[in-house]
Amino acid sequence: MVLSVKETPKMQENMDVFSRTQAVIKTALHHLGFEDVVYELLKEPLRLLTVRIPVRMDDGTVKVFTGYRAQHNDAVGPTKGGIRFHPDVTEDEVKALSMWMSIKCGITNLPYGGGKGGIQCDPRTMSFRELERLSRGYVRAISQIVGPNKDIPAPDVFTNSQVMAWMMDEYSRIREFDSPGFITGKPLVLGGSAGRESSTAKGVTIVLKEAADVVGIPLKGAKVIIQGFGNAGSFLAKFLHDEGATIVGIADAVGALYNPEGLDIDYLLDRRDSFGTVTTLFEDRLSNKEILTMPCDILIPAAIENQITEENAADIQAKIVVEAANGPTTLKGTEILTNKGVLIVPDVLASSGGVVVSYFEWVQNNQGYYWSSEEVDERLEKLLVESFHNVYETSQTKEVDMRLAAYIVGLRRMAEATRWRGWV
Ligand code: GLU
Repeated sequence: MVLSVKETPKMQENMDVFSRTQAVIKTALHHLGFEDVVYELLKEPLRLLTVRIPVRMDDGTVKVFTGYRAQHNDAVGPTKGGIRFHPDVTEDEVKALSMWMSIKCGITNLPYGGGKGGIQCDPRTMSFRELERLSRGYVRAISQIVGPNKDIPAPDVFTNSQVMAWMMDEYSRIREFDSPGFITGKPLVLGGSAGRESSTAKGVTIVLKEAADVVGIPLKGAKVIIQGFGNAGSFLAKFLHDEGATIVGIADAVGALYNPEGLDIDYLLDRRDSFGTVTTLFEDRLSNKEILTMPCDILIPAAIENQITEENAADIQAKIVVEAANGPTTLKGTEILTNKGVLIVPDVLASSGGVVVSYFEWVQNNQGYYWSSEEVDERLEKLLVESFHNVYETSQTKEVDMRLAAYIVGLRRMAEATRWRGWV
């Protein structure tokens, strides 16, 4: 396809991510026996707000940023999902991500629909104060459509508890009352939950243990490659290392390291910068794409979309692929891996630990009573073990791949809710 003047390859890629999400939703609803009109409703977010955010930069000039907030469907309850700060954010990406959030919440039975936000910016080149002004400006721009019982944001790529704190403060000022339940992923002293920061990685570890059990690979001694060394990837490296797995490969945004004997994870964690970069310290690097096809038992893409495609899926040597990132495998990639007998734990299941603990945080904010980290861990484990087996059994009984099974499980309740409400 020829790209028009304004379209970048990244925009095209995001359009593909969106249309492949629609394709799986269509097939899943068909398996569930819903008529076409349900697909017509769920194939796009109910609402998408595009905003322009003027920010006074430190040098005195004003820069105008573009941001989005997509709300997929609120038939089940308020919408929920993170906000990413990234130069490649597009409308289609935010739309697809909001739909994935619906499916994550459906699989784990949280009383939410999916939402997602994003701002086109590069936080790596912005100062602390510029980021604060951007975060506050975004909340002012979207304040009409969000709220503790409407749409609850959270962290995502390149946003963290500091960004959540600024956003919560701005929202509370606009509404003129303290609103901790407006946003999750906050610092502990502002109503954050114990265990939220490492929850995505903890969730991945829980489902990985179940998957390893099904395939018959003991986690102790298993060789693992993790692509991505941000929030999810770095905590994962630590958790899996503690479980006795051998981390033979890691990758960050710049490159990758591989050692069949195992990498020194404590050293790498110690030396990574706040954006997760560490491979720049080494001369002997692979590319972050090459690492995917190196020998290992378990491969964990924990970075960005479209990493496992028809170009490299056949060369992947892992027996289990656990998707800690959102959307790392294309549909063709999924098909090739499934036909090779690789067990895929899809993103909408594997990366749902973050939103599950976000839900716990929101419950604690609503009741004003806080849980210990043991209580959080116990509830997370129970929920994710059940969710894994629900998806795995659906894939076995319906004889479909794990991704389709996850969508079938994740969409059922939302589709039923739209019927009960009389929308379709
Ligand atoms: N951004 C995370 C995700 O993609 C977490 C969302 C949340 O906690 O609401 O699942």
